[in-house]
Amino acid sequence: MSIVDTPERRQLRELTRSFVTREVLPHLDDWEKAGEVPRALHASAAKLGLLGIGFPESVGGSGGDLLDSIIVTEEVIRSGGSSGLIAALFTHGIALPHMVAAAGVGIGGSLGGMLGGTSTPGDDDLVQRYVRPTLAGTMIGALAITEPDGGSDVAGIRTTARRDGDHYVVNGSKTYITSGHRADFVTTAVCTGFPGSGSISLLVIDKDSPGFTVGRRLEKLGWHCSDTAELSFVDVRVPVANRIGEEDTGFLAIMQNFAAERLSLATQAYATAQRCVELAVRWCRDRQTFGRPLASRQVVRHRLAEMHTRAEAARAYVHEVAVRVAAGEPVVTEVAMAKNVAVAACDQVVDQALQLHGGFGYMRDAEVERHYRDARLLGIGGGATEIMNEIIVKGMGL
Ligand SMILES: Cc1cc2nc3c(=O)[nH]c(=O)nc-3n(C[C@H](O)[C@H](O)[C@H](O)COP(=O)(O)OP(=O)(O)OC[C@H]3O[C@@H](n4cnc5c(N)ncnc54)[C@H](O)[C@@H]3O)c2cc1C
Repeated sequence: MSIVDTPERRQLRELTRSFVTREVLPHLDDWEKAGEVPRALHASAAKLGLLGIGFPESVGGSGGDLLDSIIVTEEVIRSGGSSGLIAALFTHGIALPHMVAAAGVGIGGSLGGMLGGTSTPGDDDLVQRYVRPTLAGTMIGALAITEPDGGSDVAGIRTTARRDGDHYVVNGSKTYITSGHRADFVTTAVCTGFPGSGSISLLVIDKDSPGFTVGRRLEKLGWHCSDTAELSFVDVRVPVANRIGEEDTGFLAIMQNFAAERLSLATQAYATAQRCVELAVRWCRDRQTFGRPLASRQVVRHRLAEMHTRAEAARAYVHEVAVRVAAGEPVVTEVAMAKNVAVAACDQVVDQALQLHGGFGYMRDAEVERHYRDARLLGIGGGATEIMNEIIVKGMGL
């Protein structure tokens, strides 16, 4: 039996599938049109313990580890959800881990625990004020790193935070921020000294802080049910108590949490591929052309076989890397390779699944059409494919 296929994890799959079937599928099209998911969805996911998966019970989570988070992500998409829904409902997966880790609490099987040791008294307070309510589904958080001048070069951020007594004064702007419209607080990367990786800190900024404005809702190719925002900070006063960990430790915190985010994106990629294989098989069985089902033609059967093989190979590799991450191995290169392998599989499978659907594949009514649009983000977010390649060549010693 695979380590990711235990009886407990099968139960977790069942729980996730019934949640998606009951609470998501009847409404997903409406949320795609509305451009966001409702707050009530966070509350119902929290009630079932799904929001807290991968977070320790001591901070209000449901326990479990990175592999459990992967199971939930995979099952949401395979049950008919989408990567856009994952982005919107599970934004706390990128907004909270730095706070939990800085408070000295290891996040089960993720890299978060490695951040312990930079804990300050304020970090326990942040857990009470932001982590617990978010995992209870009563608050929404976002993570803001990317700026209009660039996202790949995290060390080059320009948003500044100048110390003034027991506050920081923040100036700058962020863009493409997931859940930025709905968020009650934003975990924000700021520069607290001379520009560069050694001067980045993380501040938790409340939505209602004077000088903090949320700009227009950005319209996108995909991820329509996930709201995406521009944020502006003009002389925003943020209490020093809202700093995560010690000053200037933000770059390390961001990099260490990237592993979990990249594995989540890799999971979204192979799960989207798997879902599209299922949709294509169903379609090819039913669709008749020239008097026979599409699935009876050898060229179609072989194409489906190749799609299935790609999706399964990606899934096996992502799981292998996730198991190593959960065991605490330093596998930065492998995480980057896992993301690129899964994204490449997804891109090809989704494209072919849409092609097999013919004209219907191009229609909004077709689920495969949504996956085709949503999938395009996976090779851009959380470190683009080219940035993963940079990490991989470093790992090769080049
Ligand atoms: C829908 C959506 C949601 C997002 N959500 C968030 C969020 O919640 N929080 C957040 O902080 N950010 C978020 N982002 C931003 C995302 O992380 C960035 O878009 C991504 O990191 C790329 O940064 P960039 O767009 O500035 O591209 P750039 O950094 O300008 O790069 C442009 C292109 O050049 C390539 N490139 C860059 N440098 C090199 C190099 N040295 N060699 C070769 N190629 C290179 C890149 O790979 C990319 O293909 C989101 C983006 C989208 C589209």
